[in-house]
Amino acid sequence: MTFRVAIAGLHMECATFLPHVTARDVFEAGTVRGARLFETFRNSNTVTGGFLKVLDASGAEIVPLLHADGGAAGLADQDAVAKYRQEIVDGLRAQAGAFDGLLLHLHGAMVTQDELDPDARTLDAIRAAVGPDLPIMVAIDYHANLDAASIAGATAAFGYRYSPHIDMGATGERAARCLLKTLAGEIRPAMAIARPGLILPSIFSATDLEPLKRLVDKARRHSVEHAGYTDVSLFAGFAYADVPNCGMSVVAVVDGTTQDALALAEELANDVTRYRDALSAPAPVYDLSEGIEKALDIARTADRPVVLLEHADRANDSTHGLRALLELEGPARVAVPFLWDPAAVTTAVAAGEGAEVALDLGGHSAPMAGGPVPVVARVDAVRRDLTYRGTGAMRAGSEVRLGDTVLLDVEGIKISVTSLSQSAIDFDPFLQFGLDPVAFDIVLLRSKTHFRAAWQGFAAEIIIVDTPDYGPADISSLPYRYAPIPERTLKG
Ligand SMILES: [Zn+2]
Repeated sequence: MTFRVAIAGLHMECATFLPHVTARDVFEAGTVRGARLFETFRNSNTVTGGFLKVLDASGAEIVPLLHADGGAAGLADQDAVAKYRQEIVDGLRAQAGAFDGLLLHLHGAMVTQDELDPDARTLDAIRAAVGPDLPIMVAIDYHANLDAASIAGATAAFGYRYSPHIDMGATGERAARCLLKTLAGEIRPAMAIARPGLILPSIFSATDLEPLKRLVDKARRHSVEHAGYTDVSLFAGFAYADVPNCGMSVVAVVDGTTQDALALAEELANDVTRYRDALSAPAPVYDLSEGIEKALDIARTADRPVVLLEHADRANDSTHGLRALLELEGPARVAVPFLWDPAAVTTAVAAGEGAEVALDLGGHSAPMAGGPVPVVARVDAVRRDLTYRGTGAMRAGSEVRLGDTVLLDVEGIKISVTSLSQSAIDFDPFLQFGLDPVAFDIVLLRSKTHFRAAWQGFAAEIIIVDTPDYGPADISSLPYRYAPIPERTLKG
């Protein structure tokens, strides 16, 4: 029997303490409609790529609606989100009765000016449009903030298991397989959620860090070793979205009863609660000057670069680290990949390769981003409208769009500056400019966990520094209004 399956997505991660709202034009630049979904997502490590892989193999007929992506920044604009939500609902209504199920991709940490859980509203609106019986399987980011209401509109929910998100495609496949089994009458999924009561800063949500690693592995083992159909997702939550359901959660999907699912979810949630102190401090965090000193010390004898991690940056343009590195005297070879500053790029492009330009570099996005650094830079390379397919494990096959991009040399520090905000997580930022990562002593990154797929095991050392920015490791300093109080009292 051939099933007809609709696919859609509405995706953004919102750090609500950032002052700017992401408007529709930004979403629109990351939006794909109709049959264009096929060429954009097939053979990529994306949720939609995973949907397509399983549906293609099954011979299902696919109804591609819309995938809108606002990236990761501050609040999502309410009007924009409402329009995309309506577009999905209208697309489903237009084909009412003509499809058997829906596969949906949401982030789970979207917030608008008016809605604290817009992903829940999207699911509810879709459910209202398609009726109570149509199977809706949703794939959600590991950094989702969820409670029972968030996923009430879904038949079953699936989260990425890992951060770095090397399994976004695999998560889409899990959701798609569950949908096909359900449509074939092989299973009747029941779902439950448990919340252990812990808000984890993103920097500590890396699934290679213990004890998180063993909890993530337990969720995976539940899913693959259980006799019947079982799928357990552990969600790290997103500490920088100030919402009532901020924090970790566990979702279990079983071919059985809601009570069966709840028992599984609660078992893993209890493990999280038991390890909460260790989960909240799994790696050392240094202040900036201490971290740089340590990095220089290691770099003196290392044959590979030290990663200095300015992880509290939420907009890829913070300058706390860059400013401190420019003040260094001595021979350290430093790389600063993917600093976001479209105005600086425009100036550098106009000056051309080989020119010297005076720039106020970075730090424009928000007051706590460190402010612009006045520099005189040599323009080493200009790349107009730079777009490429990622080669790292997480971005494998995915389109990475940077807009006009330049490589600058500022007092020997190599800085690639982008027009579109994109975090540097793998070796592509070096390869795109013909640079060899091994040629540097210190590489300043702004990633939280995703860099580990390329850099853990490669870097001589990973040094986490906390800066006075929007995504600190010490979340007790954040001006929360909505996040549950008992869950944010940990030292972080
Ligand atoms: Zn994530």
